[in-house]
Amino acid sequence: MLIARLFSFFKRKMAPLSAATSNPCEFSDNRDGGISVWVSPAAIDVMWHNAVKSRRYETGGILIGSYGADGLDIDVVEATPKPKGSLSGWLWFQRGKTGLSELLEDRWRLGLHYLGEWHYHPSAAPTPSGPDIEAMQKIAGDDAYRCRNPLLIILGGSPRKNWSLSATLIRDGFAVRLNPKD
Ligand SMILES: [Zn+2]
Repeated sequence: MLIARLFSFFKRKMAPLSAATSNPCEFSDNRDGGISVWVSPAAIDVMWHNAVKSRRYETGGILIGSYGADGLDIDVVEATPKPKGSLSGWLWFQRGKTGLSELLEDRWRLGLHYLGEWHYHPSAAPTPSGPDIEAMQKIAGDDAYRCRNPLLIILGGSPRKNWSLSATLIRDGFAVRLNPKD
């Protein structure tokens, strides 16, 4: 009986992770209707799996995709796992840079660009903190990123139970929190 119970416990523990979602996620700015963000199921899947793997520590990576003609219609095609050299703790994450310029050069050839950053808030709301916004404003002003309006996506909560995404765009230096589309 005990062995059977133990076995089912381990079987549950070892079960392959199911895909987080098969639906894309969309956000928009209801105030002026000018901003629209689409996040691919593949990108959500990478964020979700890495959040599960990271357990109680923050993790994150970069967002890659394309812009519409006006630059405010954003398609997030890809989210990367944390690059080598990243450091993290319970309430903080510092993204490393190893391999990113090669990856981005490769994606530029496919017509895709650096769009911004994502990270995980373990067991917490996906609300951007003050330092989160400051880090994004720094990126907006850094010519190396070639990204004047970087996007921040945060996955918050418990990935296996209740979790959600937030999307915040830095526009002209200010943070605009976007609303999920129904
Ligand atoms: Zn954060």
